[in-house]
Amino acid sequence: MVSLSVVSLVNGILILLLSFYPKYNNDNNLFHYLLSVTEIGVFVYALYALRKKPTSGLGINICLMVFHCSVLCFCLLIYVIDQSPFAVRFLLMFLSFQIVFVVGIIPIILVNTSVVVLFYMANKYSSAVLGIHIPNNSIFDVYNIILSGLICITLNWYTAHVIISGIISYNHDQLTGLNNRRSFDQSVDFYTSVCRHVHQTVCVVMMDVDFFKPYNDFYGHTKGDTVLQSIGKALKELSEEEGIYVARVGGEEFIILWTENRLLEAERVVLKLRQKIIDLKIQHERSSVAPYITASFGLYFMRGGSMDNKEELYNNADVALYKAKGAGRNCVMLLDSSDRVCRPVELRSLDELVRR
Ligand code: GH3
Ligand code: MG
Ligand code: MG
Repeated sequence: MVSLSVVSLVNGILILLLSFYPKYNNDNNLFHYLLSVTEIGVFVYALYALRKKPTSGLGINICLMVFHCSVLCFCLLIYVIDQSPFAVRFLLMFLSFQIVFVVGIIPIILVNTSVVVLFYMANKYSSAVLGIHIPNNSIFDVYNIILSGLICITLNWYTAHVIISGIISYNHDQLTGLNNRRSFDQSVDFYTSVCRHVHQTVCVVMMDVDFFKPYNDFYGHTKGDTVLQSIGKALKELSEEEGIYVARVGGEEFIILWTENRLLEAERVVLKLRQKIIDLKIQHERSSVAPYITASFGLYFMRGGSMDNKEELYNNADVALYKAKGAGRNCVMLLDSSDRVCRPVELRSLDELVRR
């Protein structure tokens, strides 16, 4: 956030200075002034936001995104109106930002630099090849391209960083990096409608760590957090291996969602997860079910065509989890939507959990 405001200020000043170069004194002054005023505006707003709230929020990131999109539109407009080559360069560099902003600093630098070089070449040969008339290719022109390239590299990198981290923290749980409750609420509608309209069975697993309060009381809250992180890692692994959706929906409660019509396959996934938690082998002296951390699981097998809404989906998985706790923990209870009866899932060894 601080770096972003500094970058905005530097950009504002640089663009303002650019407008004093002789070549652009007459053509694009308005464009430069507007850009520099907006950049300085961003700087002032960033300072204001920092004073009001020390941590960066999504609001400012959305503002910045809107700002950058307006710069894009503005460049396009300028180009359409007076075929300004400067606007084209700026536009392309912003576009390159849109394309590569997710993949890291090196590609950003590479792409931006190549865009700068490409545009220099295009600028040089465009009149011959494309028939576009560009006033002259003085040394200021080269300088201008390099300068705007540098501006874009810094601007793109920092804004991308801030925007992406803002978006990620919006839908992700900070402790484990998994999807959070908000993300779950948004995703679950998709699953219920797939179940209802496409007649696919949706599997919902509610998982809760066993005796976690005694763990915190005995080992301390910080150790408890580390356990949640390890569990989060195991869940992320499972999510990648099985292509399923995983979220942390409460303190030590997690939810897993996927579509699977075969009951045995669904059971295999839950048993695999149960085994993964056991295999972490996190010592837990205060657990009366095992000498290490375990979890209980409620599997709701919501058969294709079921009209359950998201509350019912959640509640049914919760009912199964509650039964698993009552049945002694470290086990899986299944609630089938076809008969609404809860029954235990037979615990099998990892060797038997071969994907069918
Ligand atoms: P059960 O086997 O019945 O689930 O017992 P439990 O002790 O796990 O369940 P309970 O709901 O009584 O306790 C949940 C505990 O989880 C209480 C709280 O201290 C702990 N907890 C919740 N969120 C966090 C967190 O973010 N970090 C840590 N370290 N602990 C958390
Ligand atoms: Mg709980
Ligand atoms: Mg618990």
